[in-house]
Amino acid sequence: MTSHIIPVEEFDYVVFGGTGDLAERKLIPSLYHRLEDGQIVGSSRIIGAARSRMSSGEYREFAEKALNEHVGSEKLDPAVVEDFLSRLHYAAVDAKSQDGWDDLKALLGDVGRVRAYYLAVSPAIFGDIADRLNENGLIRENSRLVIEKPIGRDLQSARDLNEEVGRHFREDQIFRIDHYLGKETVQNLLALRFANTLYEPVWNAAHIDHVQITVAETLGVEGRGNYYDKSGAIRDMVQNHLLQLLCLVAMEPPSSSDANAVRDEKLKVLRALRPINSANVGDFTVRGQYTAGAANGAAVPAYLDEVDDKQSDTETFVAIKAEIENWRWAGVPFYMRTGKRLATRMSEIVIQFKPVPHSIFDEDAGKLASNQLVLRLQPDEGVQQIIMIKDPGPGGMRLRQVALDMSFQESFGAKSPDAYERLLLDVIRGNQTLFMRRDEVEAAWKWIEPIISAWGETSQTVRKYTAGSWGPAASVALIERDGRTWVDDLN
Ligand code: NAP
Repeated sequence: MTSHIIPVEEFDYVVFGGTGDLAERKLIPSLYHRLEDGQIVGSSRIIGAARSRMSSGEYREFAEKALNEHVGSEKLDPAVVEDFLSRLHYAAVDAKSQDGWDDLKALLGDVGRVRAYYLAVSPAIFGDIADRLNENGLIRENSRLVIEKPIGRDLQSARDLNEEVGRHFREDQIFRIDHYLGKETVQNLLALRFANTLYEPVWNAAHIDHVQITVAETLGVEGRGNYYDKSGAIRDMVQNHLLQLLCLVAMEPPSSSDANAVRDEKLKVLRALRPINSANVGDFTVRGQYTAGAANGAAVPAYLDEVDDKQSDTETFVAIKAEIENWRWAGVPFYMRTGKRLATRMSEIVIQFKPVPHSIFDEDAGKLASNQLVLRLQPDEGVQQIIMIKDPGPGGMRLRQVALDMSFQESFGAKSPDAYERLLLDVIRGNQTLFMRRDEVEAAWKWIEPIISAWGETSQTVRKYTAGSWGPAASVALIERDGRTWVDDLN
């Protein structure tokens, strides 16, 4: 079964940081795939921009190499590659000076099509680029700005960054990417909840026992230890990805799928999170750091061997018990955990329903397990509804747990597109539903910042865990204290 492809209008995509890692690994391959599927039409162009001096021809060579490496040469269609490369251009510009901006302006010309500026650069120069775009008269009614995490490292720096770009771009022109929101499963969460009658009546504290959100990586800091050391798991993963997932699970039904209707509801969830501060941080959070161990069958070093600061207490793992103080979720904990160098690469949301109020079956039938809805984001996107059935056959009434399993790849015969593919074109469509609004980002920091401060104030120690495990023992204790367990791997 193939998906329905709707082309987007003609555009010019200017990728600042067009020679960087994000452009090479994600943006160039994603745009290639969209062209291959017929979504990019007319004379749409992609313009790489960075300080390095190179011609458009050299930039095409760079992009072709990126496609060979990250799409795979055997999967490339030569005719599509040729078409793709012919759409590529390059402008050497420096965000910090006037160097090269006249060339970029000349290249863009006076074409009236949608223009998207993707800032695949350090946030330290977001403001400079916005200023230069403004000074050079490159911002028009239908211009858009795309920015990536990290949006700040605390509330004040997030506000400052939002101010810097907000000076020249209206909020409805700013697209703050959280690529988790572009995943099929995440969008399917909206479909499951709001396109079916089945779930919404039981989507509340009366029927749901708790929710687990896990984003587990087997990778470590991969040579970027000193960069990572300044942020840690709570800033890198929880403030954005995990809280965004929590919001989509917990929000009230919006009145429409309009971007602001959805984002208004997510904001209410963030504002309803019970504060965690020095009075309760020890009960609600666990921070960890990996020691030497194994990953994918090979020995790997400790975090402290990968950073310069040998005393660093930056967390590579965090588990948090969050509570949402409203009628729908009173008494329903949302357990979140994320970490590097964990046992498996896996991201999923588990909705754990309450047990049946009374069992009519005798002991021989076996233990009744509660229903679970599992939304898997990676590695294999899909949804599983775990239910109890009668074990088939004549052996009497024996019960067993089975998964109604819908792997998107198996069911639809196609690999889910990379999240960036969807999001890059949503920018052109002007659809902000899957992007974070300024007040959401700031509300998330308002909840996260006191946790980070409380760790310092209470000297909460970073618990060590062996690389290749499921994190520190204290993370297990965090949930088992409540009589519950982490669902480690249902695959
Ligand atoms: P990177 O590999 O270091 O690339 C940075 C890019 O910015 C290069 O193209 C660089 O080219 C350009 N640049 C630097 N200073 C400039 C200036 N003054 N004017 C114009 N261009 C300049 O970084 P990255 O990994 O792609 O990450 C870019 C941003 O995306 C970062 O904020 C990062 O946190 C975020 N991000 C990255 C990923 C990822 O997977 N890599 C994922 C999520 C978020 P020149 O040196 O030639 O100027």
